[in-house]
Amino acid sequence: MPELPDVEGFRRELADTLPGRRVVRVDVRDPGVLRNTSARNLARTLVGRRFGTPRRHGKWLILPTDGPTVMVHSGMTGHPYFAQSGDPDIGHERLVITLDRGEFRYADLRKLRGVWLAADDDDVARVMGEQGPDALTIDLRAFAAALQGRRGAVKSTLMDQSVIAGLGNLLTDEICWRARINPSRPVADLDRDDLRRLHGAMKRTLLTAVKHGCVPGLPRWLTRVRDAPDPACPRCGTRLRRRRVAGRTSVWCPNCQPA
Ligand SMILES: [Zn+2]
Repeated sequence: MPELPDVEGFRRELADTLPGRRVVRVDVRDPGVLRNTSARNLARTLVGRRFGTPRRHGKWLILPTDGPTVMVHSGMTGHPYFAQSGDPDIGHERLVITLDRGEFRYADLRKLRGVWLAADDDDVARVMGEQGPDALTIDLRAFAAALQGRRGAVKSTLMDQSVIAGLGNLLTDEICWRARINPSRPVADLDRDDLRRLHGAMKRTLLTAVKHGCVPGLPRWLTRVRDAPDPACPRCGTRLRRRRVAGRTSVWCPNCQPA
């Protein structure tokens, strides 16, 4: 599933290829990925426009043109990418925007989110909904401020995009494990040292993950072992605990991350 590092990877690829390209044709192969626009409207407003520099906020990819802005949220399986005309599809391409050179394509198997069109920056903010500061750039002071006064557990709070934007299930478990903080602990219980460890773990995890363009299963990462049949903590060897919360599986080490 795409998390912040994947979306940042998409952004970097598109930042190298998209700026200055002019839209020649819009081919909506499956209108099921269009969220607030129609195939006809997308073509009518985009043809002739030039793409600017892609941005990202949390898991949102923002693709401005000299007219409206195209917004992509990858959901579980969305993959926006640039291809040369004639390059083979990666599969499940739902939208192909032919450019004066190359193509922008959006592939998405499950179509849980998709593509939005925004008229201006106010509209971009409206489409994204309430978003906290981006997890990749937030400093310790802003991180502590974002968590200040929150009532929930650490994990659900970190995954709340309106608190901090960009963290999903894998990243949050990885970060909590590295910071040695139980994901079920109430945020209100965290002291300054906990917050500093959590923020440091988040920064290090994200910087490495962004380099890989995904949440990587590296040696001594929780992500590497979490889906094993009977996984052990990469740090201390204790059997990891697993629990499903709201359809998502949380994994933690009862020894390193006491409740
Ligand atoms: Zn452990």
